[in-house]
Amino acid sequence: MAHEQAHEQAHEQAYEHITVPAVGERITVREGRLAVPDNPILMWIEGDGIGPDIMTASKRIWDAAAQKVYGGQRKVAWMEVYAGDKAAGLYDGNYFPDETLDALRDFYVGIKGPLTTPVGGGFRSLNVALRQELDLYACVRPVKWYPGIPSPLRHPELVDVVIYRENTEDVYGGIEYKAGSPEAEKVQRFLVEEMGAAMVPHSGIGIKPMSEFGSKRLIRKAIDYALSSGRKSVTLVHKGNIQKYTEGAFMQWGYELARQEYAGVIVTEEQLYDQYRGQLPEGKLLIKDRIADIMFQQMLLRPAEYDVIATPNLNGDYLSDAVAAEVGGVGIAPGANFADYVALFEATHGTAPKYANQDKVNPGSLLLSGVMMFDYIGWGEAADAIESAYTRTVEDKIVTYDFARQMDEAHEVKTSDFASAVIERL
Ligand code: NAD
Repeated sequence: MAHEQAHEQAHEQAYEHITVPAVGERITVREGRLAVPDNPILMWIEGDGIGPDIMTASKRIWDAAAQKVYGGQRKVAWMEVYAGDKAAGLYDGNYFPDETLDALRDFYVGIKGPLTTPVGGGFRSLNVALRQELDLYACVRPVKWYPGIPSPLRHPELVDVVIYRENTEDVYGGIEYKAGSPEAEKVQRFLVEEMGAAMVPHSGIGIKPMSEFGSKRLIRKAIDYALSSGRKSVTLVHKGNIQKYTEGAFMQWGYELARQEYAGVIVTEEQLYDQYRGQLPEGKLLIKDRIADIMFQQMLLRPAEYDVIATPNLNGDYLSDAVAAEVGGVGIAPGANFADYVALFEATHGTAPKYANQDKVNPGSLLLSGVMMFDYIGWGEAADAIESAYTRTVEDKIVTYDFARQMDEAHEVKTSDFASAVIERL
């Protein structure tokens, strides 16, 4: 309750450059659930490089879909918040203004284009900073194939997974010491002299912390998603055969959570064969686990056996990109980062600076991230409408240059014309 009141009050605050739309209403959290009005304020961060091109195109499609499906009953009130180059221009060189974070905390749901990571100069990546500051602990990537999209697989239609990657722990905690530094020497002395560890003198050292809390909240999100969307299995992907107390613990905490919090709903692989002759009963969710290296093979050879995947940070990083490549690459793979309620949807590719402002690139990744956003706020009809219009556009071989060069007899169009073609098919 206190949490909800604090958020109500935060709404009263004035921002320096952010204009809260007069017509829209805030999304709130009531009794542990997102409460979404019919004219919700949703935030957008334009992004750098190709950001403006793909954001303009995608917003046209999102708005057209809501109009088409809800006929004015439901309409997004867009609120622009700033990060990256555009923020630096407005906020005196600040690429990551505090009020952007405040707004994201206060209004819960937003979508962003790609942001440049300035090289050198002591900048944190803006993307990493956003994840850390907002505690966006689940990085979610749905990966599935759309008919007509070039793929290296013979049966790309068998790929339909949603990857839940832990986003705050593991080797991404940034606890690393350079070889030969006083810090590395000190850690090494402790490990060798006090803990009896063996290592080559003057090694660089990285630490991999993984907690029960961090693992369970990620796996819980994955299981909740699997249940609410009618998925059949959650696979815990880990390297527990080698790293027993981090990756192995992730798996054990996962099974423990499943047994404690989802008793009666979940079935393990062992139970599946012992009690159910290999047939998952209606309404049940299968929990299984796979070693990470095998999982890369499985996703190439037997993708149909996987559905929702929950995995620690580094595995998830590799796996997300590898699986995305099976169905057309990061150019169309959508993504989102979630805290308990705050959600930031994002294009998963970068700013592709050489194509900036040419109205040329593929808006698919951002567009489909918007589909995830509509699903998240409960606008499934609009989400479905966009997805099927997108599918029909690509089936008609109307595509941007990146797909056109891999397809026979494709009709190559600009970003903006691709958006128009999707809108025509809504
Ligand atoms: P990139 O994804 O920007 O571009 C790599 C190549 O992929 C491009 O040259 C282009 O050929 C292709 N590509 C990317 N998006 C495309 C699209 N929508 N349609 C068609 N083709 C597309 O990766 P990069 O060149 O390594 O990074 C450029 C900048 O983006 C860097 O500053 C990097 O830090 C940043 N970046 C940001 C994010 C993010 O904001 N989430 C992610 C990755 C990289």
